[in-house]
Parts: sequence; C-alpha cells; structure tokens
Amino acid sequence: MTSAVSLQKVSRHFGLVRAMDEVDLDVAPGEFFAMLGPSGSGKTTCLRLIAGFEQPTSGRIQIFGDAVEGIPPYRRNVNTVFQDYALFPHMNVRDNVAFSLMLKKLPKVLRIKAAEEALELVRLGGYGDRRPGQLSGGQRQRVALARAIVNKPKVLLLDEPLGALDLKLRESMQEELKALQKTLGITFIFVTHDQGEALSMADRVAVFNEGRVQQIGTPEEIYKRPQSRFVADFVGSSNVLDPEFVYWIVGEKRWASLRPEAIHVMAAGQSASRMTGTIISKSYLGPVIRLMIDLNGTKLHASVPSNDAVPAEGEKVTLGFAKDALHLMEATS
Ligand code: ATP
Repeated sequence: MTSAVSLQKVSRHFGLVRAMDEVDLDVAPGEFFAMLGPSGSGKTTCLRLIAGFEQPTSGRIQIFGDAVEGIPPYRRNVNTVFQDYALFPHMNVRDNVAFSLMLKKLPKVLRIKAAEEALELVRLGGYGDRRPGQLSGGQRQRVALARAIVNKPKVLLLDEPLGALDLKLRESMQEELKALQKTLGITFIFVTHDQGEALSMADRVAVFNEGRVQQIGTPEEIYKRPQSRFVADFVGSSNVLDPEFVYWIVGEKRWASLRPEAIHVMAAGQSASRMTGTIISKSYLGPVIRLMIDLNGTKLHASVPSNDAVPAEGEKVTLGFAKDALHLMEATS
C-alpha cells in the first residue's frame, strides 16, 4: 500500500545544527500519527518539511507516492494547523474559513457553503458572523481546524494545536480531534511534546530526540517496550535501571525499564523478596500516590493506588514486581 507520507533518509541541517538527521518515516493513509519529543528534537522541522515550508538538505519525501521536492506548500495535498491558529482578526469566522477557497477563485456561493459545512463539522455552526476576538480559545482552535479541512486535504498537519488551551479544554479537544479524524478519514500528523497526549490520541507514535527518530510504534509498544533509555525515560517517566542493578535482580547485564505502577510496595518483611528499601518521599496525586524509594542507593519511583494503605516516609518497605514487568533494553559489554 502506498504511504500517505514517506520520508527516506531525510536530513535538514541549519549550519552546524542537525535539526533532522537521516529520518525514515512512513505514515499510512487514514492514520493518526504523533511526532513526540522534547523541545528542539526536530518535530516541527519534520512537519515543515512535509508541509513544504522547508526543503530537506538531503533525502526524499513522498506524499501519496509523489515526490514533493520543490513543490510549494499550496500545491501539496496537505494543510497545516499552527499552534497560534494564525486567524485574520479583521475577518469574520466564515471568511476566515473560506479564505483559501477565495484564493482558488471558487464562486462565492460555493465558498460559503463549504465554509458552513466545515464549521458544522467542528461544531461551530451559527458562529460564522463572529470575529475571532469574540470567541473562546477552544472555539478559535476549532475555526483554525475548519479552515484547514475546508480544502479537503489528504493529510492534515497539526503543530501543537492544543498547546494554548488549559488542561480541561485540552482533554475535551483531544477527544473531538480524534472523533473528527474518524469522521473525515484523512491522515493526521500531529506534533506534541506531551506524552500523555500522544499516547491517548495516536494510532502510532514516533519518538524524536536530537533530530533522530528513536522509536516508532503503537502507544502500547512505546510505553511497555521502549527500545532505549531515552524512550523509557521520556514516555511516562519510567524507572531506568542500570546494568549492575539489573544483574543483581535477573543475572543479566542490561539496561532495563520498570514502570512505577508495576511495583508492589509492601510493609517490610511481608514477602520473601530481598528488595528492601526506605521510602524517601511520598506525593499525593489524586488517584495514585507517588513514592520515591531508596534501594541500596538506587532510587525507584513507585505509583500505588491512593486507596491502598501506604507506609509513611522513612519506613522500610519490601518491593515486588512480576518478572515480565522488567523490560530489558540495551545490553552493555
Ligand atoms: P519545540 O517543541 O520547541 O518546537 P522541536 O522539536 O519542534 O521543538 P525544531 O523546531 O524542529 O524542534 O528544531 C530543531 C532544532 O533545529 C533546534 O535546535 C532549533 O534551534 C533548530 N532550528 C530550527 N529551525 C531553525 C532555523 N530556521 N535556523 C536555525 N536553526 C533552526
């Protein structure tokens, strides 16, 4: 099957800065694909290369099988939703949405019809006469979406589109975006530095670091089976265990990850486990309590349901976990 977007060994260098370094990516048609990584890891550069706002230093980019080198953004079958929405403040919502259709010289009745349809899709039917300044942040975000989908692009690129919204609105917009993507059936490529957002929304996630893709996989693969220390640490703040420690537990000298929620914390002496440590801090996070436990100098995070009885700071505890919860990663010589 032809990929919606395919990058083959794509690099983009700015002087000595390797913003992207030999990135290979294939996004399937209809996929909700997230590019996740810390600030400066190259996600936005990657999105801009697909959109056509940047040109690669080397490598090949294809959109639905067509090479797009040298093709300007407006002639690619993609549209971008920017973080700041970039709406025209002096135009009403309908004209904002219809703007690109005007550039394409579509007759006015058809422009208005298409704009109204796009506004209905983002649940803003009836808001066409307002100016952007008369809308809430979430509504402005939806106008930006309507403006992007009015062209019926094959690929929609979203650069941290929920970044400006507060947590509650962010969560409801995450659900709306996912529902919209299902309705439209078009490919979404989404940039975020928020791991929770990437895991909850995407079909697959590419984790970026320092211009390179560290791992591509389903949210479950990325979360449960990280291939590197970076991914384990960045996605969901896992415990990354050093090879000496792992050797002590399982007799293999490998780096390993252990999710905080996979650790059982018991009062000392309640099990035969030799992993006994001391609680050095305890934070209440609502549904769970997060503990930091010192185990012979190794600090481990554990996350336990807040309904459980949890020993106090300074107390000794015994730790246990299922053998398959320890995920072995890179070997060391
Ligand atoms: P953020 O989450 O902060 O937006 P990002 O992962 O999207 O970060 P990019 O914006 O792609 O990262 O930047 C990757 C690297 O390339 C950074 O070191 C950045 O400073 C550099 N960079 C990006 N654009 C340019 C440019 N036009 N000129 C010089 N360096 C650039």
